[in-house]
Amino acid sequence: MPVKPSQIIITVVVSFIYWCLTSCLSIAHVLFNQIANSIPPYQRFNEDGVILDVAEMPGFTLEQISQIKQEIVNETVLCSICLENIEEGMNAKIIPGCLHKFHDPCILPWLLNNSICPYCRNVIRLEINV
Ligand SMILES: [Zn+2]
Ligand SMILES: [Zn+2]
Repeated sequence: MPVKPSQIIITVVVSFIYWCLTSCLSIAHVLFNQIANSIPPYQRFNEDGVILDVAEMPGFTLEQISQIKQEIVNETVLCSICLENIEEGMNAKIIPGCLHKFHDPCILPWLLNNSICPYCRNVIRLEINV
């Protein structure tokens, strides 16, 4: 039985549409990967706010962190790491430069792996003393 020309056209059109769809999907996949990879590593968190990939944001040593000023707060402020208040009279670490305040146990693991303020992303320079 000879193949009708219309069947050939339909086959060609269908395979062309299929080819378009698959290449669109793979382009979208590549673009998505590029976007995902362009997000700086320090912005990658899981639901608990735990840092997933900090390899490119080296932090400070314990000794350097101990140089960051700690102060008793005289007004209640929010610790943006645990989202709980640092109550008046409690100790808080104060980030040099931007002066953002965090609980000491909250900021310590962050500073071991990052050299930016977790709240405003200001680069922390230890030589600036508050
Ligand atoms: Zn906290
Ligand atoms: Zn800050």
